Amino acid sequence: MLGLMMDKPLLISSVLNYAAKYHGGTEIVSRTVEGAIHRYNYADAEARSKKLAQALQRLGIGDGDRVATLAWNGFRHFELYYGVSGMGAVCHMVNPRLFAGQISYILDNAEDKIVFADLTFVELLEQIAPDAASVKAFVVMTDEANMPDTSLPNVHCYETLLAVEDGDYDWPQFDENTASSMCYSSGTTGNPKGVLYSHRSTVLHAWAAMTPDMLNIAAADAIMPVVPMFHVNAWGIPYAAAMAGAKLVMPGAAMDGESIHAMIEDEGVTISAGVPTVWLGLLDYLERTGKTVEKFKYCVIGGSAAPRAMSVEMEEKYGVHVLHAWGMTEMSPLGTVNWPKHGMEGESDEDRYNRQVKQGRPCYGIDMKIVNDVNESLPEDGEAFGELKVRGPWVCSEYYRGEGDNHDADGWFATGDVATIDSDGYMHVTDRSKDVIKSGGEWISSIELENIAVGHPGVFEAAVIGVTHPKWDERPLLVVVRNEDSEVTAEELLTYYVGKVAKWWIPDDVAFVDELPHTATGKLLKMDLRNSFEGYELPTG
Ligand code: ADP
Repeated sequence: MLGLMMDKPLLISSVLNYAAKYHGGTEIVSRTVEGAIHRYNYADAEARSKKLAQALQRLGIGDGDRVATLAWNGFRHFELYYGVSGMGAVCHMVNPRLFAGQISYILDNAEDKIVFADLTFVELLEQIAPDAASVKAFVVMTDEANMPDTSLPNVHCYETLLAVEDGDYDWPQFDENTASSMCYSSGTTGNPKGVLYSHRSTVLHAWAAMTPDMLNIAAADAIMPVVPMFHVNAWGIPYAAAMAGAKLVMPGAAMDGESIHAMIEDEGVTISAGVPTVWLGLLDYLERTGKTVEKFKYCVIGGSAAPRAMSVEMEEKYGVHVLHAWGMTEMSPLGTVNWPKHGMEGESDEDRYNRQVKQGRPCYGIDMKIVNDVNESLPEDGEAFGELKVRGPWVCSEYYRGEGDNHDADGWFATGDVATIDSDGYMHVTDRSKDVIKSGGEWISSIELENIAVGHPGVFEAAVIGVTHPKWDERPLLVVVRNEDSEVTAEELLTYYVGKVAKWWIPDDVAFVDELPHTATGKLLKMDLRNSFEGYELPTG
């Protein structure tokens, strides 16, 4: 027997429509690439997204056509999120930090028909345009006064396109499983692979993201995604904020400590989210200037491991609670966030900081397990570690065009992360499977060793890699960028590990470097590091 309830499709347009109707006056504030702060509200955003949908139709975009964006977090990008998906086309967020060759590959692979770009990326597009055979038009996301001289063919001005539309447009209704948007995984190995989201997966993910044990977004909040909209949907915040009716604050291209602090204070930001590097920048700025933050309550940190020292400093110096989060492009991206459970009220500060090092628990909708080399489930005792697998309605079922596959016969997706899961369900990423250090048949977590190293006051950034060892196969080498003015020695750093990890986990040596290599999304490029330390001679004895 079927239930007798309305079968209303979960469409992205309905989220903005809700925000415009019930939170129409709530602000969306953006730092523009032209420099000024732009303000409007959800009602304006919906009206303009409808005009954008009309403009796209006029440019010949139809159902399922891919429309690319190369843009920072800002109001026009927000309109593209809704206008493109809302009209039935696919909004393809391209990461401008990738190499030009990778961007050309991605545009070609997705067969994008139009590319919308912020002023900042016009030069980059000029390089790529000759190879972008599928692209029929380019749109610069600015007004006439700021239109650049450009060699781009068939180029339009965003504001001019919208100006001729009347906004008299009803969002079309269609199957919620229709493709809505896409992102490519960064491709640290091989070509980037496309992940194709649906309206249903996006709305369910946003709904989950809003809940108290995920991003905890309420209508009374002001949330600032520092995580870029061109990387994994800005963790779903452009959708979840609208669904909650929260004020949305977008930092544009300025992600340095001073600019982030100004946005937080001027706009009364209560929740923000970003990768650890951004928060290092903010903490450094606060330390140098003696400034504080007023309303900022929750700082969501993910993308790479949030070091324990960061949670301690945020909490004790500035009263900001760190929420460690984990996810990936293939998961829309949220998988886990670290909040306490019922019964943990009496947790000591030490216990809380130790818990916060873990990436957290999944919410309803995400199922996880860890497996060994032969795909057998491992105990969830906080000790055993194995490859983390996931499934759920906002996890990809396959890659775009079937390129590559990380799914097993039962449909579980292998994340490529190595993790433990404890009896309370808290997951702790110990490594990427390709980065784990295999010493004498046992595994050593490079991430845990890095977290400890960055807790030392003399260390700015640290990476731990496995180097070949005649007896143990591999042994850990700590590679360190010292803080300015620090003269910390290898011996001091190695002693710092004593009592913090098992003796056999302590790195065999320390190498000091001026900087570490990073991927386009700010993650450590360990493969490059392993190459540059190939043949490194560890001290004997
Ligand atoms: P990419 O496109 O580089 O894969 P993603 O953001 O999708 O970018 O990367 C996902 C990966 O980032 C995860 O599989 C995991 O390895 C890493 N990651 C994300 N969040 C965390 C975290 N909190 N701690 C450690 N690693 C993380």
